[in-house]
Amino acid sequence: MYICGPTVYDYVHVGHARTYIAFDVIRRYFEHVGFDVILIINITDIDDKIINKARETKRPWEEIVEYYIKDFFEAMKLLNVKPAKVFPRVTNHIDDIIYMTRALLEKGHAYVADDGSVYFSVDKVEHYGALSKQRPEELIAGARVEVNPYKRNPLDFALWKAWKPNEPWWASPWGPGRPGWHIECVAMSTKYLGHRFDIHGGGQDLIFPHHENELAIARACLGPESFARYWLHTGLVMIRGKKMSKSLRNIVPIRELTSKYDVEVIRLYLASTHYRKPLDFNYEGLEQYREVLNTLYTAHDYLASLLKEKALDLKDVSLPQATNDAEQDFLKRISLSVEDFERGMSNDFNTSQAISALIRLARTCMAMTMAEEKLGNSILLYAYSTLKELSEVFGVLSRALPPLNLEALIYELVDLIVEVRSELRSRKLWPLSDRIRDRLLKVGILLNDTRFRTLWKWRRYA
Ligand SMILES: [Zn+2]
Repeated sequence: MYICGPTVYDYVHVGHARTYIAFDVIRRYFEHVGFDVILIINITDIDDKIINKARETKRPWEEIVEYYIKDFFEAMKLLNVKPAKVFPRVTNHIDDIIYMTRALLEKGHAYVADDGSVYFSVDKVEHYGALSKQRPEELIAGARVEVNPYKRNPLDFALWKAWKPNEPWWASPWGPGRPGWHIECVAMSTKYLGHRFDIHGGGQDLIFPHHENELAIARACLGPESFARYWLHTGLVMIRGKKMSKSLRNIVPIRELTSKYDVEVIRLYLASTHYRKPLDFNYEGLEQYREVLNTLYTAHDYLASLLKEKALDLKDVSLPQATNDAEQDFLKRISLSVEDFERGMSNDFNTSQAISALIRLARTCMAMTMAEEKLGNSILLYAYSTLKELSEVFGVLSRALPPLNLEALIYELVDLIVEVRSELRSRKLWPLSDRIRDRLLKVGILLNDTRFRTLWKWRRYA
């Protein structure tokens, strides 16, 4: 899989997170069904946007790049997105890009213009516009908006951009300059995955011109059968009916979200909308998935404590044989949930169907903890491991315990016990209230009954 990665000139926001999480879930599902996944995510570390940012902030472009690359990796880690095998950077692949540009010139698919730039010529490409399902006339009308006297056809695009003052540059056979955007992804994807690979992904806004042009370059350079077998595009993130974008100033930075919501809630929420559909971002949705995650964890935690009590180990999981009606019934319910989950995910990654199946599985697990006396160890173990495995596809249920403020919790609990004991005392239930006092003393808590209330304190020395 090759995913078009970030252009590193700004912070990661919810729109990016949605794309990376969607592909992370897809990748995890492939691994769940037993595929080996080689994932490549490129980093565009030279681009107009980076140069502009350097100009605006009066900082060197390299500094901008390093700063936002760090932000990107931190955000991916924070979001529990499994890392790619390689994160190739454009500036480390200038030679590969020059090599490919030269090959395109030799094959007559490109030309050197008077400004020293090299342009790709779309005229000789068959079916140009097919990926984005656009007719050439429409494309030309769109492209004419931006006038460039050096292009022979308004749809042509730069493979190599000639140097302009105050811009970074690399040496090339056509003079100093830097690579164009589209060729970088062809050079890097085919370098790491070969001329033909399975999946090319990215946000929907990349279909045209970026992916259309990538495809044109690849086919011209490497042959008509080369490049991605499947293209997967994630829908846009909308907020109150508008696209989340810089110009509309409605961007939600990912750190703003992670400061308010658990990462697993964010993951489940962003993954719940089908990857191709636009995601209507709203906080009610996040609240809803907080409850979903609570349902999953409740089942998980009850089952986990049961297994712990019985000293059962996940190493011993196997497909159990039902030995009574209750086991038969639960086994059937578990396998129906698994089938439903996998049927959904195998149908172009229907994540909402999969999440529903996961919730149903959690409810089954919950019901099992209440019928534990009828159930053997192997089926309890199997239910738990199945819940864990399916949750792993969404990257949730990875925590042993929720973040707790233990000290505050202890004070609250002791206050509660003392309050209940006072009630017992007022009903003159002395033996029970004495038992509570003695038990508390054993864990180091001293009670002092005055006439009107009970005070408690820690016993300093045992
Ligand atoms: Zn790309």
